[in-house]
Amino acid sequence: MEYLECLKYSPSKYFRHSKLKALINVNDIIMKQKKVIVIGGGISGMESSTYLTSMGYDVVLIEQKDKLGGKLLKWEKLFPTMSMGKDVVNFLNKGIDLAQVKVELNAKIINAVKEGNIFKINLDDGRVFESDAVLVTTGYDVFDARKKEEYGYGIYDNVITSAELEEKFLSGNDILTNSGKVPKKVGFVHCVGSRDEKVGNVYCSKVCCVTAVKQAIEIKEKIPGVDAYCFYMDLRMFGMHFEALYKQAQEKWAVNFIRGRLSEACENMDGSIMVKVEDTLAGKPLRMNVDLLVLMVGIVPSVGTKTIGKMMGLNFGPNGFFKSLDQHSMTTVSNVPGVFFAGCCVAPRTINNVFVDARAAALMTSSYLEGYDIEKRIQEK
Ligand SMILES: Cc1cc2nc3c(=O)[nH]c(=O)nc-3n(C[C@H](O)[C@H](O)[C@H](O)COP(=O)(O)OP(=O)(O)OC[C@H]3O[C@@H](n4cnc5c(N)ncnc54)[C@H](O)[C@@H]3O)c2cc1C
Ligand code: SF4
Repeated sequence: MEYLECLKYSPSKYFRHSKLKALINVNDIIMKQKKVIVIGGGISGMESSTYLTSMGYDVVLIEQKDKLGGKLLKWEKLFPTMSMGKDVVNFLNKGIDLAQVKVELNAKIINAVKEGNIFKINLDDGRVFESDAVLVTTGYDVFDARKKEEYGYGIYDNVITSAELEEKFLSGNDILTNSGKVPKKVGFVHCVGSRDEKVGNVYCSKVCCVTAVKQAIEIKEKIPGVDAYCFYMDLRMFGMHFEALYKQAQEKWAVNFIRGRLSEACENMDGSIMVKVEDTLAGKPLRMNVDLLVLMVGIVPSVGTKTIGKMMGLNFGPNGFFKSLDQHSMTTVSNVPGVFFAGCCVAPRTINNVFVDARAAALMTSSYLEGYDIEKRIQEK
């Protein structure tokens, strides 16, 4: 309901009922011929497309999969409110319908180039879309946990990822071990594929500490009497209400937080997992058996982010995400005039950050199309 409430702020509603539109007819006179292609139909692409279409631009939203929503289609409950992922996607789909965004699903982009001031996007079915600007919202992939061989993912049956645990929550089935037993102890390993020089990802993925706290609470809710253990280096509860959720996990749900990096996980004869941790608070090594081990996989640039970036000549930062023209003032602006980006293709972000970003990127795209000289301002700084 909270999200439906928000629809009253939809820009298309504003434009439909605006007396200004009737008087000046801004959409019809100035904006209608300008075209924008948005690549990637996750939450960032959906929200920016809704805004751009509502502002009067001719927008085509291109998504490679058969549905809009991106990763949010896979998450059941969301931190920090425990509201449902599907409600956010429904809210965004209503915006897409209201604004009447043109959507191309199952679309594979094979080439994307700029010729003069026009962008040409070729699909594998032979169609070519042209536009005056492109907004790239190609998102992220989760870290491939097989690269952390010492944690046994893909080798031991009872080592799963946080994304897989979300899928189990979403299925509505009981949370069981691979052999069908109710787990008595569940471990959560933080920073898997993040803050780790060995795998080449030195950055923090931002969302996994609070996701671990949220998932530990959910496990406690679903399995009465289960023990939950979070193994962390340090807890990064940076967002509004995250600290409260962490406190709730300790005080209401008695989740155990153990400070220390996991060095190794091994399988016991009965399929349970033995973890070896250097407990840095107690100052001694720790060995413990858990029935299920959940790896909090980090956020890495998606394959789509890499391929579209290369096709369009976009700059990448040291972590492989898109590099903004300026880290403070131009986070949604790329090095190629007319190309903008939003969401997790730029950096790990929470959903509320993505909404802000998507709307900001829509505004920057509009500024460019209306002749606002962004680059000049950068040079004049
Ligand atoms: C386990 C986990 C749980 C999380 N839980 C929460 C939570 O509870 N609360 C919260 O605030 N955040 C959460 N997050 C973060 C959240 O998932 C992201 O903020 C959000 O999904 C980012 O949206 P996006 O649109 O930028 O990217 P994505 O969701 O990755 O969407 C990108 C879209 O682009 C498409 N695409 C990619 N390449 C191409 C191409 N070449 N052509 C066409 N389409 C393409 C993809 O198919 C996809 O649909 C979680 C993250 C993880 C890893
Ligand atoms: S958010 Fe937490 S678990 Fe994720 S990379 Fe940062 S410190 Fe590690």
